[in-house]
Amino acid sequence: MLARLVCCWLLLALPVAAGVKDQDPDPWQKLSFPVDSFKRISSAFGWRSNATTNKGTEFHSGLDLAAPQGAYIRAWADGLVQKVAYDPRCGWQVSVDSKPWTHTYCHISAVAVKVGDVVRAGQVIAAVGATGRATGPHLHWTLRYNGELVDPYQVLLQMQQAWQKK
Ligand SMILES: [Zn+2]
Repeated sequence: MLARLVCCWLLLALPVAAGVKDQDPDPWQKLSFPVDSFKRISSAFGWRSNATTNKGTEFHSGLDLAAPQGAYIRAWADGLVQKVAYDPRCGWQVSVDSKPWTHTYCHISAVAVKVGDVVRAGQVIAAVGATGRATGPHLHWTLRYNGELVDPYQVLLQMQQAWQKK
């Protein structure tokens, strides 16, 4: 887990407190950064100017993580694959149910799971692509808590804090 964090997290030095025994691990520490070979955040969650026409504004429902075509996408949390589908906007997508959370991975080029599969945090579930409405390969990552959209960046900050406590 740590090796993956070091390679993929925003190149932050993770202070690891040697010898600290954590009896009750913070659940945030068990979550996985959702994509390998992460390059940069290419679009934030929230209102933005239209990504393709630049006319008007639109609500961007997730966080765009730029990564190379084919880079592995990893389940953020343990859960149950509830949807593998295509739509013109999100492209090929996988949704995982981790009640009360739902996490969705869009624009994928390949899928490694099927509906009904149980997945573990960090498990490879798909590969980065640019299917649907995308100008280049990236992961559009959407998080919902009890059905309400949540800014995934805030979740990454929570995870970072948890990892730094390790
Ligand atoms: Zn997006």
